Amino acid sequence: MSRQINDIVILGGGSAGWLTAGILAAEHRVGSNSALSVTLVESPDVRTIGVGEGTWPSMRDTLRRIGVAESAFLIECDASFKQASKFVQWVTGRPDDYYFHPFSPPQGYGEANLVPAWLQAHGAHRYADVASFQPHLCERGRAPKQIVTPEFAAVANYAYHLDAGKFGQFLQAFCVEKLGVRHVLAHVRAVDTRDNGDIAGLTTEEQGSIRGDLFIDCTGFASLLLGRHYGIPYTSTRDVLFCDTALAVQVPYANSDSPIASHTLATAQSAGWIWDIGLPTRRGVGYVYSSAHSTGEAALESLHAYVGRTSGTAASRATEPRKIDIRPGYRETFWHRNCVGVGIAAGFIEPLEASALALIEMSAKMIADDLPATRESMDVVSRRFNERFRYRWGRIVDFLKLHYLLSRRSDTDFWIDNRCADSIPERLHELLAIWRYRPPSVRDFHEIEEIFPAASYQYVLYGMGFKPEAGLPERRLDDRETALQCFTATAQLTAKYLKGLPSNRELIEQITAHGLKRV
Ligand SMILES: Cc1cc2nc3c(=O)[nH]c(=O)nc-3n(C[C@H](O)[C@H](O)[C@H](O)COP(=O)(O)OP(=O)(O)OC[C@H]3O[C@@H](n4cnc5c(N)ncnc54)[C@H](O)[C@@H]3O)c2cc1C
Repeated sequence: MSRQINDIVILGGGSAGWLTAGILAAEHRVGSNSALSVTLVESPDVRTIGVGEGTWPSMRDTLRRIGVAESAFLIECDASFKQASKFVQWVTGRPDDYYFHPFSPPQGYGEANLVPAWLQAHGAHRYADVASFQPHLCERGRAPKQIVTPEFAAVANYAYHLDAGKFGQFLQAFCVEKLGVRHVLAHVRAVDTRDNGDIAGLTTEEQGSIRGDLFIDCTGFASLLLGRHYGIPYTSTRDVLFCDTALAVQVPYANSDSPIASHTLATAQSAGWIWDIGLPTRRGVGYVYSSAHSTGEAALESLHAYVGRTSGTAASRATEPRKIDIRPGYRETFWHRNCVGVGIAAGFIEPLEASALALIEMSAKMIADDLPATRESMDVVSRRFNERFRYRWGRIVDFLKLHYLLSRRSDTDFWIDNRCADSIPERLHELLAIWRYRPPSVRDFHEIEEIFPAASYQYVLYGMGFKPEAGLPERRLDDRETALQCFTATAQLTAKYLKGLPSNRELIEQITAHGLKRV
């Protein structure tokens, strides 16, 4: 008889550990299903990474699936609404250089090809501005919904900006109190194995041995089980994406009623870029840079200059930035024997499009959906998991690289080196050749849950001024007419939403006072 999978042990209590625990426990009704247990083991001595504050719209579905109330989440996690990323000075570095990557797809996406008509009729305007109402909402600091919109429902597609530390605590309380997850505070010193090489248990000083059937490695950069115990090789992506260091600070607002940005700002620098995330009570700001192209002192100077410029000099030196070394890349295998890695333990690449938490959600959902009943069936599940996530990591690398290789900046070696042919992944190179003659289409990305759909490629490609050969012909007779209707719809929706939607801060205040309608 093959061994039953009854006891799941999650090692690590950062966002990866608690999101995975929540998804597994909710999906399998662990609280009322005595056959299955979920135990989360977390070291009292090793702190969580404490960054990771930008999410994707998938987080709404995840939180709804786990069963939390959106209003409680927003209030307790100091969260606000995110509708887009705004990339500043990535193309030329000039002051007027920016573009948006909004969460709502272009108007008529999948039905109409807007690009030829945009190039002919509106080429002087930014693509996202004529294809989507959402950049206009972001520019005016609008929220993506009203107080009467029910929890998790949207007028404009949205995700969240959140306080990573508070998010972990919020999920922990919910998982333990409402979902029946067992929480063990103990530092793991050794791993016990079975004769076949599977993990049998984790040895701790505080709680002795913690036995299990499936182990989920969420130990962040330590990668205790996949990396240290099993020695699964690491695929470095530093030859494609050069950023390997981050400096992170928290910046107070000038006033308690300062506007809260509805988008993540990513401002290009001489050796990387600075993220700027607005929460209700503070901003999270950080410089992600390539240590091969900048000294630590120069990077710190750039960060101080940015914070000073955007919030006043006094705040710029208020907190000493935290330095985080990043080893960009991912494990060759994510699920090995009875152990699967989720979160940074599986890999990490610069947070340019905030895909790490989304990948955690996808990993946990696939583990929950395909949870093997027996050890025998686990090898089939793990093979499929590894194939799926190797593909996804590859697509993340491609998409992030697109932001660099389309830049025309030549002011530093960082930008010049980023366009070197041997740093461009083969698949991306081929797609760019195709896109000279037609826009990115849904057929270019065939997975059901693509990590970045063709809509995202369109926003970045045309936002960065990628010029197709000789305009791009219309293929269908009604393409132009449909496209013009879409542009009109964008303008109408923009006017309607600007009139009806409150500011980000107004909505947060209303939610704090009254709460959203529960679904
Ligand atoms: C600079 C930076 C910016 C980022 N920005 C974003 C973003 O905007 N959006 C996004 O989606 N993601 C972002 N990320 C990624 C995001 O922060 C992580 O994916 C997320 O926080 C998950 O981390 P984790 O849970 O894997 O690891 P961690 O938070 O590091 O947790 C590791 C856990 O393992 C435990 N542990 C370690 N060793 C032991 C041991 N021996 N015994 C017991 N327990 C142990 C620790 O106690 C801890 O609980 C960013 C990351 C960085 C570095």
